[in-house]
Amino acid sequence: MSESSASGVHGVSGMSVAAAFAGMRSAAPVVFRAGCPDCRGRFELAASALRLAIGASSRTTFYSFTCPDCGAAVRKPAGERIVELLTGGGVRTLRLHSTV
Ligand SMILES: [Zn+2]
Repeated sequence: MSESSASGVHGVSGMSVAAAFAGMRSAAPVVFRAGCPDCRGRFELAASALRLAIGASSRTTFYSFTCPDCGAAVRKPAGERIVELLTGGGVRTLRLHSTV
């Protein structure tokens, strides 16, 4: 009878995971986290799923999207930070204010 040893696992140490990430640039598409006030669903949206509307003031600046869960049209106010994030992420921007 041969002796079967299940305890012959040697610890593998010294492997650097960080090295795999060093110098690597993330080419992943930008994804924005959003929530739906209607169904309270939370999801991630690609830049193409969002639209940003910039009004004359920050009060009329908002972003909108369609909830992938319930199909509701969601509109939320966008502050300066959000505007920067969205425009930097390639979200379609619509300028609402007229300069007349
Ligand atoms: Zn929803």
